[in-house]
Amino acid sequence: MRIAFITDIHANLEALKAVLADIDLIGVDRLVCLGDIVGYGADPQACVDIIAERVAHGAIAVKGNHDAAMSLGVAGMSRAAANALVWTTAQVDAVGCRFLADLPMVHAEADRLYVHASPNDPLAWGYVFDTADALDAFAATDARLIFCGHTHMPALFHAPTGVLGAGDALSFWPEGAVEVTLAPTRRYLAVIGSVGQPRDGDPSACWGLYDEEKQTLAWRRLPYDVATAQAKIRAAGLPERLWMRLAAGR
Ligand code: ZN
Repeated sequence: MRIAFITDIHANLEALKAVLADIDLIGVDRLVCLGDIVGYGADPQACVDIIAERVAHGAIAVKGNHDAAMSLGVAGMSRAAANALVWTTAQVDAVGCRFLADLPMVHAEADRLYVHASPNDPLAWGYVFDTADALDAFAATDARLIFCGHTHMPALFHAPTGVLGAGDALSFWPEGAVEVTLAPTRRYLAVIGSVGQPRDGDPSACWGLYDEEKQTLAWRRLPYDVATAQAKIRAAGLPERLWMRLAAGR
């Protein structure tokens, strides 16, 4: 089975369309959306409609913190994120809001776990930024492979199977398009990187391709129409930082 992973779309329709076109061109057996369909960008309704349609045809989606905030409120969010969420809530229809509210927090299948933030207390929305965070994540699940988003920073954390202690996890930070081969004797936590608001200094949209038979995981980067996405955010009157950062990928 070949699985495409997308996450942190953040209502960026231009980036989402480019990534889905790439995925459909390559051809995969499954699409998994790791959350944050909305927030920050100018096209929340269109992005929710596209993901809901994919889910109706067999894709899997889990809930992100921005998706959750649509129904739970903006407590704990940055000012720009909170402003964007208030705007976003007014843009999405009742069916779309219901879809976001009904998304599961985690999804497990075979030896894999899909979650937006960390399997270690998913509702706490903790970030997996370093090997200590990864060890907490590994301790919280038996899954050999964990796929997540949330940090908008492509990363791969890995550790031996079995009981883990401090120092047992290693990290790898993919730059650009990178493919790695996974070892059967190790566990992995893959942070896929953001479709619609990359923050690793590369403005191109990111998605992940996992090949179960070959045991490979690839991060793919894709240029998209950044200028149009920026112009829409500007026209919506959303905070300047939200469109400025798309060009820098930070
Ligand atoms: Zn996000």
